Amino acid sequence: GILDGIASMFMRWYPPVFVVLKALSPKYYSFRTLNRNVWHKRYLKPNKLVAITCYTSNCAEAYKIAKEFRKCGSKVVMGGPHVTYQPEEALEFCDSVVVGEAESVWKDVVRDYENGSLQPVYNGVPLDDFYSEVHQELLNSPPEIIKDFLETTRGCKFTCSFCTIPGISGGKARKKPVAQLVELINKIKHRYKTVVFLDNNIYSDPQYARELFKALKPLKIKWTSQCTIDIAKNDETLQLAKESGCVGLLFGYEISGGSSEKQQRGKFALADHYIHFTKKVKDLGISIKAHFIFGFDSDRLEHIPMLWKFCHALKPTFTIFSLLTPLPGSQVYREMLEQNRLTNLNWRNYSCHQPVFKHKTINHFLLLTLFPIMRYFFLLTTSQLGYAIMSLLVLYFICSVFGQSIYAILSPRIF
Ligand code: SF4
Repeated sequence: GILDGIASMFMRWYPPVFVVLKALSPKYYSFRTLNRNVWHKRYLKPNKLVAITCYTSNCAEAYKIAKEFRKCGSKVVMGGPHVTYQPEEALEFCDSVVVGEAESVWKDVVRDYENGSLQPVYNGVPLDDFYSEVHQELLNSPPEIIKDFLETTRGCKFTCSFCTIPGISGGKARKKPVAQLVELINKIKHRYKTVVFLDNNIYSDPQYARELFKALKPLKIKWTSQCTIDIAKNDETLQLAKESGCVGLLFGYEISGGSSEKQQRGKFALADHYIHFTKKVKDLGISIKAHFIFGFDSDRLEHIPMLWKFCHALKPTFTIFSLLTPLPGSQVYREMLEQNRLTNLNWRNYSCHQPVFKHKTINHFLLLTLFPIMRYFFLLTTSQLGYAIMSLLVLYFICSVFGQSIYAILSPRIF
């Protein structure tokens, strides 16, 4: 209907995994991609091979769609981060589950589907060469598909306790050849001047990152990505990133300098340098999206003003504020399960905006009430975007209160 049409105009993001499945399926297969945001029952068809991916917070809708496809006679294979860690749950709604990355097992899935012998579980392993076959598929794809699938590396060198990436993609960066990325960007740069690299951490391998930045420089594009703040340890690398067209980076500042978690190894150990490193990035004109997580065991209510001061000192372009959420597959989830602290197993609430576990010191209802206020307060009072919104609101207020009087003074008198 009309709503479908309007919604689809805004839902153009194409989950990269479908490019992978297309690349690894026989050429006589034809593909149709459907988005649950514009879902309609008429999409249900019998005798198809249906692949569904989802996160934890939207798995209920994915399961519902999977069930409907099975009911009308199709075979359903599910994958993605949630299903990888909850395969038994998913198998109640689908025929097969791909655990982990699909590249190493999708051909087996298709073969077994054709032979009528689909297995319940396919265990994918992170391949070093995860890109060759997919690259050929991408080269034959239109620019709008290519621009949604620019990834330079997979995996991350850190193992943050709340993150599910290390479990799926491994603890080291696997790298795509730089020449392939240059080839893809050359195919789309006439249409897209700014691109987004999908990497979880584009600085997972510093040497590779430098090689990439040097190769991007002559292409004269602008790019953004996610990154860890240790990129600012090395002035030369940061300068290279800037010269290669970097205009924005998303950094996770999951803890403030005052949290005891900073004693942990890995990314948390960078907490003492956050402000200094951030200033270096901003001085080069690179905008920053800052992601904060509240709710670690050492976080207390009285830390909130300190955290606000810390965010305010960073002054990012955009502030994202989340609640610690024990996503299945993360170390935090395992700990919460062991300690019997999960208070909510409705996956819809695992969107990082609701408390789903018992905090050691903060009252659950207080956290539930405070968090939405904190979220918007931090966005409006610590980020450049927030300042812009506040200025507009103040202007609107002045105009609506004094507008009539100003108009009366300025307009010519009739009587
Ligand atoms: S640095 Fe980012 S991607 Fe890497 S483990 Fe931590 S949260 Fe996950």
